[in-house]
Amino acid sequence: MSDHFADLTSPQVAALHTAIRTTVLLLPVGAVEPHGPHAPLGTDPIISDGMCARVAERLRDDPEVRVLILPAVPYGVTEFGAAFPGAVGVRPSTVHSMVVDIAESLHAQGFAHTMVVNNHFEPAHVNALREAVRTLADRGVRTGYLDLVRRKAAARLTEEFQSGSCHAGRYETSLVLADRPELVDTGIMVGLPALTVDMPGEMAAGHADFPAMGMDRAYCGAPAEATATEGEQTFGTLTDLLVEAVRAQVARD
Ligand SMILES: [Zn+2]
Repeated sequence: MSDHFADLTSPQVAALHTAIRTTVLLLPVGAVEPHGPHAPLGTDPIISDGMCARVAERLRDDPEVRVLILPAVPYGVTEFGAAFPGAVGVRPSTVHSMVVDIAESLHAQGFAHTMVVNNHFEPAHVNALREAVRTLADRGVRTGYLDLVRRKAAARLTEEFQSGSCHAGRYETSLVLADRPELVDTGIMVGLPALTVDMPGEMAAGHADFPAMGMDRAYCGAPAEATATEGEQTFGTLTDLLVEAVRAQVARD
């Protein structure tokens, strides 16, 4: 059977409720926004999809948990990148409504475990997701959210990720190289100078888009240092984190 929820037939979905294994539904989330002059607009949803696929693979024969990947919500709040061609932003309320409606719909038909998997870290977007999870909890729908910017998770990711100078840099570009290498313009990538931008500091100073933060090519970090090997290692860590979150979610029953 496919790992993708929408590949199943309606009777196959009905049969999940009587299966021995607990079903956990992963909802990949991202944004369509500029990632430097070298990486695809869909970098964030590509990373979310890549994590989900690896978790489904790792848990394929698990005796307790069965993971299925929902169709993604690839659009996010992207004000920072709005000045660049290709940024397709939606409002925080849209992200909130999509996540709440999807999880509620699944909960109403008996799926107790939905988990949000996000790789777009613009604060307004992350806040919309956190808010959605709170709204759901208030309505009795417990929803998981692997919040990668929390210190506990971030501490296991790469130095560049932890530095906060990280958009379409070495961290993200490596992940795309591991999964969809044909989408990275490596000819441009290798010529990009490393650029250190303290994104959290810039945001605190009131700078609300990439140009104001000094990112006039919509990246920071060191994309020229990206490798598929690092990307695969990082995917391994992201997979560990998500498997742990899935098990914790099921254990709360
Ligand atoms: Zn990104």
